[in-house]
Amino acid sequence: METSKAINLLQNKEVAIVGGGPGGLTLARLLQLKGANVKVYERDFSKEARVQGAIVDLHFESGLKVIAAADLMDAFKANYMAGADQYRMVDQDGNVLLDEHNQGPELGFGDEHFRPEIDRGALRNILIAALLPDTVVWDSQLVSMAQVNDSWELQFKNGKTAKAAIVIGAEGYRSEIRSYVTNIKALYSGATIIQGEIDDPQKECPEIYALVENANLIAMGIGKTISVQPRGDGGLTFYASSLYPENWIKTSGIDFNKAEEVYTYLTKYYEDWNPIFFTLFKSANHFVPRPLNYFPLDQDWDTKPNLTLMGDAAHLMPPSGEGVNTAMLDALDLSECLTSGEFQDLHSAIAAYEKRMRARAVILGKEAVEGIKDFASPSEESIQKLILQFSPNELSNDA
Ligand SMILES: Cc1cc2nc3c(=O)[nH]c(=O)nc-3n(C[C@H](O)[C@H](O)[C@H](O)COP(=O)(O)OP(=O)(O)OC[C@H]3O[C@@H](n4cnc5c(N)ncnc54)[C@H](O)[C@@H]3O)c2cc1C
Repeated sequence: METSKAINLLQNKEVAIVGGGPGGLTLARLLQLKGANVKVYERDFSKEARVQGAIVDLHFESGLKVIAAADLMDAFKANYMAGADQYRMVDQDGNVLLDEHNQGPELGFGDEHFRPEIDRGALRNILIAALLPDTVVWDSQLVSMAQVNDSWELQFKNGKTAKAAIVIGAEGYRSEIRSYVTNIKALYSGATIIQGEIDDPQKECPEIYALVENANLIAMGIGKTISVQPRGDGGLTFYASSLYPENWIKTSGIDFNKAEEVYTYLTKYYEDWNPIFFTLFKSANHFVPRPLNYFPLDQDWDTKPNLTLMGDAAHLMPPSGEGVNTAMLDALDLSECLTSGEFQDLHSAIAAYEKRMRARAVILGKEAVEGIKDFASPSEESIQKLILQFSPNELSNDA
């Protein structure tokens, strides 16, 4: 049993983590390892409520380090998707530009360049299984909260309420809690993704399925990209990305709930591409348009004594292969600040965490913002740059 000041900062205090994504669940696990009293309030109706998306790669210096700190490496090794960290890049005609499949010895755990991929749902399940029973309170969409003396009273959409001494906003980029910390709003990166889900790709788009080969496929033409990833359930997720005006999703007039309308749009937009990509669009049964936003890199706010943010709620950035990894590092930093015994009170513990978290986010966010246009809407030069970056001899293989 831990008896340091560490526990004392959280002693007799309930911690409410709002949002059961990779950041919030990791934090709950790390705090429970230190004996803290934690609940995770999650909007989803249940664990099975929705497909969590495709794969995510964890990095040696961030995601994997946190998995080890959470004592979950064995569970991770039992669930990761071996070989899925490889990349194949093709041009708009389907000609292979770069292929990591079957190229030399595979990297393994312990190698700092190894970035094993795991299905997002599998990662979520590992984290949930490691928590004490009933830690996650499902169907708890936070709508507002109010300070009552030194505590917070949380109000959920289903009419229920909860009290907590400390609240952590881990509910992603549309965070409600963020508005209680700062009024700094997100900016638009210039790029938008149309995400599509395919449940039976082997049958519906066999050529693409073969090209993906259970790993990462990136297809690039001038001004537009399609990336395709396997899901743990045998399906595929694709992201068709390009540059669009800020409110294009509304102004386009496309009803993204109608697969036929999205198919018509995509086949037109990609009309000079090899028609095998049209089979991808045709097979999708569900589309989600995603404008890629980010929080300003120089954001700052006055630390609150019993409230903070983590993950996308704190520092949303365009996809660069770092978001989940960074959210997990936030969880490690915050759990350490709250339980290490280094700080006299919650306010200074949270201040120290926020300083570290923001410093990291500035560096990663800058890379993500600078890189997104090259990725979503490449030029000939940026395609060559990406081939170099993803080449088997290079060290970085971010999604
Ligand atoms: C297209 C795309 C591809 C990406 N690829 C990668 C990648 O390859 N690698 C990588 O590391 N990152 C990637 N990212 C980024 C990554 O998905 C995010 O950075 C990461 O999921 C953030 O984790 P989080 O826990 O902070 O928030 P989230 O994952 O957004 O989780 C938030 C949770 O809060 C819940 N919630 C939301 N609102 C409420 C509410 N009001 N009350 C209660 N619960 C609520 C949600 O249901 C969800 O479970 C990608 C992002 C996109 C858009």
